[in-house]
Amino acid sequence: MASSSTLAGHTVVALHAHPDDEAIFTGITLRRLAAAGARTVLVVATSGDLGESRVPLRPGETVPQRRTAELERAAELLGVDRLVLLGHRDSGLPGWESTRHARALAAAPVLPLARALAELADAEGATALIHDDEDGIYGHPDHAATHRIGAAAADLAGLPAYRTTVDRDALDSRTPAGHLVHGAAGAAGVRYGRRAEEISLSVTGTAEDLAVKRAAILAHESQVAESDLPEDGFAAAYGQEWFRRTGGEPGPLEVLAALTGHRADHRADHGADHKAVTPAP
Ligand SMILES: [Zn+2]
Repeated sequence: MASSSTLAGHTVVALHAHPDDEAIFTGITLRRLAAAGARTVLVVATSGDLGESRVPLRPGETVPQRRTAELERAAELLGVDRLVLLGHRDSGLPGWESTRHARALAAAPVLPLARALAELADAEGATALIHDDEDGIYGHPDHAATHRIGAAAADLAGLPAYRTTVDRDALDSRTPAGHLVHGAAGAAGVRYGRRAEEISLSVTGTAEDLAVKRAAILAHESQVAESDLPEDGFAAAYGQEWFRRTGGEPGPLEVLAALTGHRADHRADHGADHKAVTPAP
C-alpha cells in the first residue's frame, strides 16, 4: 500500500454518469488515491433513474432515492471525501424516449455543466479530473455526456484529465463475458472499451483494494447481485482500471500507476488515432 502522504496536497475530481460507475470503473483508483493522501471529490451526474431495482424498495422509496443511498455507502467505502450530485435524469439508451426528457443528462447543454464542474475543481484546488472517454466507455448517452462535460471542464480549468475506459483486449482474453460492461454494451448494442495500445495507464489493485471495490459495487444492491460478481474471477475482470491522460504533465494517477507496479507511459493524447475495430463477440 502507498504511504499515506505520497499524494498529499493533491485533489482529484472524478465525474461519473450513474451511481455504480464510480465503483465499477474507478473503485480501485479512488481508494488508492485516498490511501495515498489525496483528497477525492466524486461528482455523479444522474441518480440512475432508469435502473430498475432488482430488490424491493421500501414503501414510498423511489429508485433515485435508493440509488443515492447506495452511492453514499459506496463513496464511504472508497474513502471519497466529498460527494456531489448533479441531479440530472438518467437518459436511457439510444432511441429511447427518455433521452429527450427535459432533465435528461444527454439533452443538457454541456457548457453550463462544464463551467460548474470547472468552478468546483477550481474551488477544491484540484490537480486532476477523471471523466469518461470519448466513447463513453461503451457508448451509453450519459457516459458520452459526462465525457463532453468533463473534457470541457478540464479545458476551462486548465487541468490534466484521465479518461476512463476499459482495456477490451485484456477483458476479452481474461474474462470473455465476465465484466458488467459486457452486459451493458450488449444491451446498448455497441462495442466497448479500447485496444490495449490506446490505453495510457492502468492502476492495479491489491487483494485488499479488490475486496473494497467488490463491496463498493455490491453496495449498489438495487442494480448488481452478488451472483453477478463471483469472487472467483473478480480479480481478472475488475483488478485493473484503465485511463488515457490528456493535457498537462504526468500527475496523481501516474504516481499511483507507478506505485502499483504498472508503468505510466507516454501514450497520452492518443485519441485522434482511435479507429473502429471489429466488435467483441
Ligand atoms: Zn453508467
